[in-house]
Amino acid sequence: MAFELTSSPAHQLASSPAYQLTSSPAHQLTSSRAMIRIGFGFDTHAMESDHNFRLGGIDIPHSKGPVGHSDADVLIHAIIDALLGAAGLRDIGKQFPDTDPALKDIDSRILLNKTMQLIRERGFSVGNIDTTIVLQYPKISHLIPEMISELTKAMDLEAGQLSIKAKTSEKLGFIGRGEGISAYAVVLLQKV
Ligand SMILES: [Zn+2]
Repeated sequence: MAFELTSSPAHQLASSPAYQLTSSPAHQLTSSRAMIRIGFGFDTHAMESDHNFRLGGIDIPHSKGPVGHSDADVLIHAIIDALLGAAGLRDIGKQFPDTDPALKDIDSRILLNKTMQLIRERGFSVGNIDTTIVLQYPKISHLIPEMISELTKAMDLEAGQLSIKAKTSEKLGFIGRGEGISAYAVVLLQKV
């Protein structure tokens, strides 16, 4: 089921609420009525010595980097999962299996671009994306504008549509010990 927030003309206010939450069967998802969908994504990777550190589409100088089948860009992976989830397209592991040798060490910006193609083929456009990176070391806040530039270019979005925030875990847990990195993303998709 998909849910739509619909509005009523003012003259109907006496007989019906201004806004009603209505439901539609899945087969009506291609209806011409405006529709919004929310997606949430999470990703985490271990950080180990002698690995390149790609984050938000850029290279970050550090003694450790995330371990993964692709370039292990945790922020991009969280965004991809949020986009796919909002569009009802499962998740990154389903669309881009880590058993596929063609995806070994692949630049995650390519996967992000392909994800946007899947989204747009289904008639969706991105309203906005909000993200949070959780990382103890190194400090990355000064690199966020460059990440926004790289990722909005890969997604063909305006810079104002993507928010990236960075936090530490207050030295708690595996992130606090510098053993890993996590990212969270929320996406709003719209379909007209
Ligand atoms: Zn990942």
